[in-house]
Amino acid sequence: MRDSVVRIGLLLPEVLGTYGDTGNAQVLCQRLRWRGYEAEVVPAGLGEPVPSTVDLYLLGGGEDGAQALAAAHLRKHWRALSRGAVVFGVCAGLQVLGTRFRGLDGVDHDGLGLLDVTTEPGERRAVAELVATSSGLLPEPLTGFENHLGVSKLGADSEPLGQVVRGTGNGDGTEGAVTGRVVGTYLHGPALARNPALADLLLSWTAGHPLGPLEVPEVDRLRVERLAATRRRRTP
Ligand code: GLN
Repeated sequence: MRDSVVRIGLLLPEVLGTYGDTGNAQVLCQRLRWRGYEAEVVPAGLGEPVPSTVDLYLLGGGEDGAQALAAAHLRKHWRALSRGAVVFGVCAGLQVLGTRFRGLDGVDHDGLGLLDVTTEPGERRAVAELVATSSGLLPEPLTGFENHLGVSKLGADSEPLGQVVRGTGNGDGTEGAVTGRVVGTYLHGPALARNPALADLLLSWTAGHPLGPLEVPEVDRLRVERLAATRRRRTP
């Protein structure tokens, strides 16, 4: 966080905002404000340059056509695409951060190559609550909902974010992908509202140091309620 105002870059909210993931920006801002930082959301739409002076980048989910448009735009305009930036992408955002994704029409699109992930359409759309254990980065399970057809395969340069307990995730029992400080996930919710530890992990990477804990009982209650709901749904 280079100066007094932390700037959260929200990339292409008009095409990658279909599933409510723009809420992740509000969550990060609010968690910073509760800790006494000033924070602002910096939306960057189609036709605008991607700002190079933000502290963290967010990409959300969207439909296939919108996703292809987003990938083409970002490949052209994200000049500051830096290996060191903290980046968080959800669903279409994850797929765009990968190296390549295939649409339903069979056409392959180049991604940004920040994650070692390729995506192809699966056989069935995954629409469900998704629960995953975190693979070491986080102290608690991940919760959210998923809504995607894409099946993602990780290469050697990305680690899964977690292992699926309920739902589909990447499609092979893993969920999401991490390379350095770039994270992709299939979790909507918004994911950072449902998973405060993940929000704080991204913020601590941005700050360069761990952030103090926050007590937010509403968020704790939401997590308990959503995790219990997935268990109930599975009970015959
Ligand atoms: N179009 C992509 C898929 O179905 C992404 C969907 C989404 O972002 N929720 O895999």
